[in-house]
Amino acid sequence: MARIVVIGGGLIGFATALMVAKQGHDVTILERDPAPPPGTPDEAWDHWERQGVMQFRQPHYLLPQGLRVLEEHLPEMARAIRNAGAIPHTMLSALPPGITDRAPRPDDGKFLTVTARRPVLEQAMAGAAGRLVEVRRGARVSGLLTTRSRQVTGVRLHNNMELLADLVIDAMGRSSPLPVWLDAAGLYEVAERADDAGFTYYSRFFRARPGEAPPAPLTGNLTPFDCYSIRTTPGDSGTWSVTVSIHSQDRALRRLRDERHWTRLVSECPLHAHLIAGGEPVTGVLAAGGTVNRIRAIVRAGVPVATGVLSVGDAWACTNPSLGRGMTLGLMHAAIVAEAVADHVKDPFTLALEYDRLTRQRLLPWYRNTVYLDSQRIAQVAAVIQGRSPSQDVPDLAGAPLRDLAAAMTWDADVFRAFMEMITMLAPPQEIMTRPGLARKITEAAALATAGGRDPWTAPGPTRAEVLKMLS
Ligand SMILES: Cc1cc2nc3c(=O)[nH]c(=O)nc-3n(C[C@H](O)[C@H](O)[C@H](O)COP(=O)(O)OP(=O)(O)OC[C@H]3O[C@@H](n4cnc5c(N)ncnc54)[C@H](O)[C@@H]3O)c2cc1C
Repeated sequence: MARIVVIGGGLIGFATALMVAKQGHDVTILERDPAPPPGTPDEAWDHWERQGVMQFRQPHYLLPQGLRVLEEHLPEMARAIRNAGAIPHTMLSALPPGITDRAPRPDDGKFLTVTARRPVLEQAMAGAAGRLVEVRRGARVSGLLTTRSRQVTGVRLHNNMELLADLVIDAMGRSSPLPVWLDAAGLYEVAERADDAGFTYYSRFFRARPGEAPPAPLTGNLTPFDCYSIRTTPGDSGTWSVTVSIHSQDRALRRLRDERHWTRLVSECPLHAHLIAGGEPVTGVLAAGGTVNRIRAIVRAGVPVATGVLSVGDAWACTNPSLGRGMTLGLMHAAIVAEAVADHVKDPFTLALEYDRLTRQRLLPWYRNTVYLDSQRIAQVAAVIQGRSPSQDVPDLAGAPLRDLAAAMTWDADVFRAFMEMITMLAPPQEIMTRPGLARKITEAAALATAGGRDPWTAPGPTRAEVLKMLS
């Protein structure tokens, strides 16, 4: 049995802690925020103080792949989330209207997930872990204990208390100061790369009126318009949220933070207006900006900077939230921690290398895919802001033109499903694009479009010129 300290009691800290605790290790979570989870979902939403997580009250949806990880490794957490009121949701909730073949497919169940407000998810996950994991709240870690041989042997708390551990897991989220701590301990620099994800989010939560059901979606969770997108996220207890996201450099559209402007824009989007008319607002417009795509590696050129420490979830890599991949990446990562710990906990050097190898193999491609999709969208929006036609000839990761895939998925039910498998991390783009028949379907649909002048479907809503007029 190893002594394992997890720094950070967020979603992924709890998931990781429970996975390794189930192997019989002695696991303690150290969480800087003092407040324990409240008793009910609504209290968690209304009152839980969580200064340590800046996105605590921002919209969150869990992708089907994330739910799969929970069901496989932490069925008690999946149960706790459902018991807390999370509702079933399919990522195929609304096929684009241009798709005439609306027949269900036998394996559509793979797009199913459950969704709840983030404080509710966190409260449920913390409750499910409590039996096997010791949680110390109000325990802010301020540094690491290390040896000359680059082994981390424990942590130092804000009150100078020390806690020894065979393994320290950094689950401190996107602001994890681990590289600074390792640097302060005289260890080589951690490799890090960060890019501004480039988006700002303006979100508002709603709740169904007494006796009424939440309005049904008329389009998918994420709808791109020319220079803004609308994301909708169903929640527990009759709640849902609507988010308008803009290019973070688009000064003119920042006025959408104003409730009046925000409401006017969404009201003029025919597939979204009912989402704000069909319920009571429970928040004003909540803004989130400054989100980065940032990735770190503790192993450099095949050599660990330090042993006895692993970074998981956002502490390893955080991504732009538009695609809602953060929690799912984190849960997949927690499963990698558990696998590496099960095989190598007694050998810190091999543990560091194996963890790095599995992370690169299974998660790095998804991180890169997210950065790639962001860069495509940012380039499109920037072109519209600058009055240029959005670039249409950038090849996608598997070599087929993105334009053709994006167009064909608005007409073809199978291409749409394949696209959603990629977006929701059920299957990597390389695998999807080499499926027999799919690339041909995409090319044929594109050729048909070129010959017949058929435009890909785009959601109805104000154009940039109209939004600017609205805001003036
Ligand atoms: C605006 C926004 C919207 C998002 N929407 C989605 C979405 O729809 N779907 C999705 O999957 N993901 C989404 N994400 C990403 C998601 O929030 C993260 O991936 C997820 O929170 C990562 O969990 P974590 O446990 O790694 O980190 P966190 O949730 O950030 O938890 C870190 C924990 O560490 C604690 N901590 C920090 N420092 C210390 C310290 N020194 N000592 C002790 N404790 C410490 C903090 O208090 C906190 O509890 C979104 C992110 C943002 C910014």
